[in-house]
Parts: sequence; structure tokens; C-alpha cells
Amino acid sequence: MHNRDQVAAEKSRLLQEQEELQNELNHLRELMQAEVDVDPDEGDGEIFEREKNAALIAVLEAKLQDIQAALRSIEKGNYGICMRCGQPIEPGRLEVKPDATLCVKCQEEVERLSRRGRQTRQIQW
Ligand SMILES: [Zn+2]
Repeated sequence: MHNRDQVAAEKSRLLQEQEELQNELNHLRELMQAEVDVDPDEGDGEIFEREKNAALIAVLEAKLQDIQAALRSIEKGNYGICMRCGQPIEPGRLEVKPDATLCVKCQEEVERLSRRGRQTRQIQW
């Protein structure tokens, strides 16, 4: 079971990460705005940079959403608890996926079931 201290530590880690991501996103968005006036001689390089930044922004935004989802579940008091079996989710799994709502066992089961569902549909087709 996750105790109160662990959850509090996790929450402050997530808040810190959220702040870093937001700073990084602000910085990237500023760069995107600043680069509107492109030097024709360096046009290609600038466009490449912009595309790279846009891709990075998308990645960071997705990560930020994961973190915010995790923070919401901490507020609701069900952080780190598998919503299928009610057992604690493996800490290592939460590390890589802070918004995980299923333990590894249930996740595998759900994926197996949905794969089987797809196969069944293919056969019926
Ligand atoms: Zn489970």
C-alpha cells in the first residue's frame, strides 16, 4: 500500500516536473513566435528548427497532461491504485507512466482481451 508520505513525496515530484515542463513549453513557444521573421538565406534551417520545436512541444504537452492526470488522482485519493483489481500499482510502473490506472497484470489482461476482440471482429468480417 502507498502510505501518505510516499504519496506526498510523489506529489511534490510531480509538481516540480509540471513546473519544469511548463517553463520548457513557455520557452519553446517564445522561440516559435520569435522565429516568424526568417532570414531567407537560412530559411531551411529555421523551418527545420521550427518543426523540431513543434514536435517537442507536442511531446511535452502530452507529458504535462499525464502529470496533471496523476495530480488529479492524487487529489481524489486513488493515485497508484489499480481501478480494475484495487491493488497498488507497481512503483516502477508509476515512474514511467504516472497516470497509470491499471496494474501491470490488469493492463496485460485488458490488452489481451482487446486484441482478442479485434481478432474476433476480423474473423466475422
Ligand atoms: Zn490490477
